[in-house]
Amino acid sequence: MAKTEEIILPSDPRAAKLMTVTGWVSRNGRWYGDDERTARYDGSTASECRECGTQCRKGYTMCDACSNKREREKYLALPEVDVPDGYMVCHEETYASDLSELIDELLEDGIFPTSACIYICEPNHAPDFNIYDHLCDVIPSEDDRWKSPKEILEAAVALNKALHEYGRNISWTAGKTRPKASLIAEIVGDREEELLEKEEANS
Ligand SMILES: [Zn+2]
Repeated sequence: MAKTEEIILPSDPRAAKLMTVTGWVSRNGRWYGDDERTARYDGSTASECRECGTQCRKGYTMCDACSNKREREKYLALPEVDVPDGYMVCHEETYASDLSELIDELLEDGIFPTSACIYICEPNHAPDFNIYDHLCDVIPSEDDRWKSPKEILEAAVALNKALHEYGRNISWTAGKTRPKASLIAEIVGDREEELLEKEEANS
């Protein structure tokens, strides 16, 4: 004989019971259950530097001083090479097509080039256009008989040809090599000499 299902109405004391639960609530009033770490993070206004333990911006793992030191160490470990013809160089958001030009800009901004991280950039090329990625949301998923019309395929081939031909060096990103430190020092030395000469001429 099949067991008849027990009927429990919402008013039945067995339908639910009142329980007291313990958990972490952040300063902002958000509930985190047993996740004390995230609750503490949510309720905090600053973070601690993992290197030196001083206070740093919330969400950052390092203070500015430690992060600059770390970048400098990584930078000095990069190979020093000649800047290839036609390549850009950069320091943070400042880009130039010529090392002397970049150094002049840094000096104007009061940044000392011999202790700054100047990178040789790598070019970014236009990526290929993939017609199937482009159409993936509208191609009937169950229907593998679907073929892109010849005209669209030909246009995609033509677009890719143009991207290869004209889409090179569209932009630049800091690469994994640096200009020779001796060359940077030499350019800075020249600028200092020029300044001295100007001062002497003016006096
Ligand atoms: Zn630090």
